[in-house]
Amino acid sequence: MTDPSAIAANLGTVRAHIAAAARAAGRDPAEITLIAVSKTHPQDAVRAAMAAGQSVFGENRVQEAAEKFPLPGARLHIIGGLQTNKAAQAVRIADSIDSLDRAHLADAIERAAQKEGRLPDLLVQVNIGDEPQKSGVATAEADAFIRAMRARFGAKLAGLMCIPPADEDPAPHFRRLAAMADVHGLAVRSMGMSGDYEAAIAAGATHVRIGTAIFGARETQA
Ligand SMILES: *Cc1c(COP(=O)(O)O)cnc(C)c1O
Repeated sequence: MTDPSAIAANLGTVRAHIAAAARAAGRDPAEITLIAVSKTHPQDAVRAAMAAGQSVFGENRVQEAAEKFPLPGARLHIIGGLQTNKAAQAVRIADSIDSLDRAHLADAIERAAQKEGRLPDLLVQVNIGDEPQKSGVATAEADAFIRAMRARFGAKLAGLMCIPPADEDPAPHFRRLAAMADVHGLAVRSMGMSGDYEAAIAAGATHVRIGTAIFGARETQA
């Protein structure tokens, strides 16, 4: 069940922690965008967050996202690994696709963008820990892939995204992603989730993706 007052209170807490982490790192809290990850939660939860001033949301499944978005005033990031056959729907509903990690997907996004007449912002997802089960371009191939995507999509390639290995200190992985973004002159570094966003902000995150700390535990796997 959706509890609007709990969501509003959680948002307040998360925003305060983001601001404190930014100041501790000598950064302006306004540099950091909070992506509220609403996967598995109903549209009512999204509306409750919007009523509490939240406008940027993240979903990792396109089909589920399409049941809740677009919503007037909301900005949607697709943050989960994207199947090529879902690219057209993602291009239709997303303001940003944050999981670009292979040339075939780039082809599908480009075709869909031509057809739909809109191209979302794009982030290259880097498999920063080179984990076999994770989506994202391998670190050894990241530089070449980022250059190719830059050449293809120009300024629509806004930055990089990563999910570090669950069982390691995330800080070195966050720093590595930030350094890659620096090398390529990319502004957006989407890194940090409920459990590690303060470390991500210290390492230079511009976007943090937070679900559980705002909407509560998820009942189903997503
Ligand atoms: C689910 C998800 C999140 C949010 O995770 P929480 O631990 O609930 O904050 C962030 N990023 C991605 C890619 C996700 O799939």
